[in-house]
Amino acid sequence: MPVPRRYTTDAIVLSRFDLGEADRVLTLITPTGGKLKAIAKGVRRPTSRLGGSLEPFAELTVGLARGRTFDVVTEVRVGHAWLNLRDSLESAATAWYIAELTDRSLEERHASEPLYALLKRSYELLDAGMAPGRVARWYEMHLLDELGQRPEVDRCVECDRVVEADERFRWVPPLGGVVCQRCPGPPHDRTGLSLEALKLLKAYQRLDIEAIAGLRQSATVERETEAALRDFVRVALEREARSLAFLDEVRQAPVPASSVTGGA
Ligand SMILES: [Zn+2]
Repeated sequence: MPVPRRYTTDAIVLSRFDLGEADRVLTLITPTGGKLKAIAKGVRRPTSRLGGSLEPFAELTVGLARGRTFDVVTEVRVGHAWLNLRDSLESAATAWYIAELTDRSLEERHASEPLYALLKRSYELLDAGMAPGRVARWYEMHLLDELGQRPEVDRCVECDRVVEADERFRWVPPLGGVVCQRCPGPPHDRTGLSLEALKLLKAYQRLDIEAIAGLRQSATVERETEAALRDFVRVALEREARSLAFLDEVRQAPVPASSVTGGA
């Protein structure tokens, strides 16, 4: 079947950069067409028809014409804008982080329905006021699943023995998960993992999002789980996400009370 020259698709903006006087190049994720780059010509002129609709953190319906290098945006409608998500700096920074991981996980023009659905669901959760850290961890765990790199949290990745609650174990992302106390693991590795953090990792794999939202954990265990999953994602994608530096900065800055309304 010949590929039509013009087509319409749902899309979410993953990233963008300005080009020339008034154009902008967007990286979009679409449910069936995968990731693609598109150019919005003249979009930075105040008179542009495309104007303010081509924003991140929204599900768009985009009309595109096939082009040689980039497809060309001919039309945009906002299907749903996740406006609350933008009210909190931490939610917005988390949304950029999630977008970056999505971008890095996809090759252009490869179908990506599960990743599209995962991104959309994460934005809905941030928009609904769920704690950004919980959404980020949930996203990371499910992204790893989709990439075929689900972390092993039940059995030692070296000897395949079920790890027991009363032993000391370590978290070794390059090997794919948890290592029991009997196995040496890599010599330079020294990342111990607490039982509570391991339980939280299991929860992210097994519980639905409503149950995860209701979990209570100490800040220490949350941080430990965060570090464990970030390490795993860094190994899986073979580099650190650029947006993490900004996210960490946002979280350390004192946040005025007025800007955290809607945050959980
Ligand atoms: Zn072992």
